Amino acid sequence: MLAALREAGCRITRQRTLVIDYLADRDDHPSASQVHAAVVRKDPGISLTTVYNTLATLVHTGQVTEIDFDDDHNRYDTNLEPHLNLVCSRCGSISDLALELPVRPSEVESATGFVTTAVRLEYRGMCSRCGDEEAMP
Ligand SMILES: [Zn+2]
Repeated sequence: MLAALREAGCRITRQRTLVIDYLADRDDHPSASQVHAAVVRKDPGISLTTVYNTLATLVHTGQVTEIDFDDDHNRYDTNLEPHLNLVCSRCGSISDLALELPVRPSEVESATGFVTTAVRLEYRGMCSRCGDEEAMP
């Protein structure tokens, strides 16, 4: 991610590095405020705006995908391979599932000429942990 930012002509600041280090370790698709809450512990001077700007740059350079929610804050996905996102409507967890996509980008292109640059697939429902909790008396 750092290399891609440098290539895009972005200055690599210590605060940006903190955001990237945090994101690189996560697969739970944190929101900007979750990222901020974590990095502010390492650098109390880092603002939510800096976190937002860094995330926006990463999205712009294609390093991170933004998953937008109507009712919640946007979440950020660092997995760039095509995959399914399983979104739990009860606890808000988002997990990745690496299964064959229903329609591959190459099939879309040969059918329509449309060149896919990003794939976002979202299945909404309830995760197994929440299902277990709900089943408890
Ligand atoms: Zn859940």
